[in-house]
Amino acid sequence: MKRVKCPKCDNYLTFDETKYVEGQTLVFECPECHRQFGVRIAAPQAAAPAEEDFGSLIVIENVFHYKQTLPLRLGDNVVGRYVRGTDINTPIETTDPSVDTTHCVINVRRNRQGQFIYTLRDASTDGTGTFVGTTFLRYNDRLRIEDGTIITIGATTMILRAAGCEEEETTAEERTA
Ligand SMILES: [Zn+2]
Repeated sequence: MKRVKCPKCDNYLTFDETKYVEGQTLVFECPECHRQFGVRIAAPQAAAPAEEDFGSLIVIENVFHYKQTLPLRLGDNVVGRYVRGTDINTPIETTDPSVDTTHCVINVRRNRQGQFIYTLRDASTDGTGTFVGTTFLRYNDRLRIEDGTIITIGATTMILRAAGCEEEETTAEERTA
């Protein structure tokens, strides 16, 4: 089964993609707002475009959301709870109320040897803070993080996967765009 998000109201619809052939475009009507929208069935295991890998943030599934893999980019990756109209570049689709809409920032840069350096900074304006293990980062506190670092914001746990490192388990649910 695949999930698609209504582009108007963010309601999720689930459908059985195995009933359709790849390349086919389906038209859905959102049961919430009745907006109609098209969804193209992607080829299974469609080769991802060969974009440069700057690492990613793996959001562990909990009662508030499904597992998500958020690709990182060079510079600041602003992480927080997705809300409609958000302008952060690394939103998490979650209903976790303890995740701020702008909660933390992961800065990605290369050092002179070309290695990637990841720096986590808390950006929660409500004082929730960001945890790395038992280390508590207050607003604007910074910490170098590396592959496998576990980050907790609110009730939500994320793991940094550094560039070039494999994710151990590859059952991330793919979302049909
Ligand atoms: Zn809708």
